[in-house]
Amino acid sequence: MQIIVHRGTHQIGGVATEIRTSSTRLLVDMGEELGLTENFTPKPLSIPGVTDANGRCDGVLFTHHHADHIGQLKNVRPGIALYMGALAKQMLLLTLPPGENVLKKRIAAAHTFTPGKRFYIGDIAITPVLTDHSACDSYMFLLESGGKRILHTGDFRLHGFRGKGVCKWLKRLSGRLDALIIEGTALDRPAAWPVAERILQQQLRAYLKRYKYVFVLAAASNVERICAFSKAVPRGKYFICDAYQYRLLRLIQQQWGAFSPLYRDIKAVVYTPRLEERFSQRGFVMMVRDNRKFREIIRRFDADKSLLLYSLWDGYRTRPGSSLASFLALTPRWAPLHTSGHAAPGDLQRVIAALSPQRVIPIHTQAPARLKALCPGASVVLPQDGEALDL
Ligand SMILES: [Zn+2]
Ligand SMILES: [Zn+2]
Repeated sequence: MQIIVHRGTHQIGGVATEIRTSSTRLLVDMGEELGLTENFTPKPLSIPGVTDANGRCDGVLFTHHHADHIGQLKNVRPGIALYMGALAKQMLLLTLPPGENVLKKRIAAAHTFTPGKRFYIGDIAITPVLTDHSACDSYMFLLESGGKRILHTGDFRLHGFRGKGVCKWLKRLSGRLDALIIEGTALDRPAAWPVAERILQQQLRAYLKRYKYVFVLAAASNVERICAFSKAVPRGKYFICDAYQYRLLRLIQQQWGAFSPLYRDIKAVVYTPRLEERFSQRGFVMMVRDNRKFREIIRRFDADKSLLLYSLWDGYRTRPGSSLASFLALTPRWAPLHTSGHAAPGDLQRVIAALSPQRVIPIHTQAPARLKALCPGASVVLPQDGEALDL
């Protein structure tokens, strides 16, 4: 087997990794570059046979629906089969803006897979492993062919609701991997112990005792967190969101409600001015967005009883040109309520030690070399974008 990281050896997001044998060629993710600086123009991916007709490609697998992994789907040559999680597919279809008919057709035609159930593309066996990340329905892929075994982690962490399940699964692969392609987003971040996702839920409960009106700014697609927040709301108070968020919650409830109480019996109400008086009387948690409509709604409630919770990555708030500072000033106080969607350095260390793979290839990181210092006993390989690695 051969691995080529087309993009992502030295950057976060915009990733694309090729896995090939002599007869089969697959891509894992086709991501859009993240624009965190002003006037940033993301570069399209250009991979022969994938984005043009100069070669063949047997399929593109998507680890999850974040744009930095799926955003270049639009440049995948028509006719190449796409594979993604069933819930992720439905979420993408719900999220596409009107007019994106070509993309919509393409996504609607994508194949879906079942967690833990092996399937084949050419001579590569693929086992999708449901993982823990800030996008629900995220996967790692175990790729096997000719006696060789590669695990591609996609984006993952261990401190969310699914962390334990991921650890259990990884144990089975201990000592059996020829290569581990692992995300390293947190390699250049402080090595602090991450706050567990369930702690955020407890913190929200505590805030609700002190504030009658709690507004939460979070990513609508971080549906597991939003399910957890809805469950923190005591009887008698409302959990309010907009129609789009409500549809996402309905979707997870329909598709995953049978798997865990976290995803079922979600009591949510769609915001309407008609109910505003009742909201005002009883109190609530309201999921909000930084737009004119929500700015006006927030201003209509008693500021002294209001709190805004910031449940997003801090970089969005501090980047040049961000409008979030003025949004967070809408209430007299705001507080952060967030934890990373990515594995902390200590967890990367733990996973690599537990798996003891033949080689480790960090991707989705600005500081790949730090993995060598973090795991001195591991065989860390640091390729450049586009460099082929033979197993
Ligand atoms: Zn990512
Ligand atoms: Zn992600």
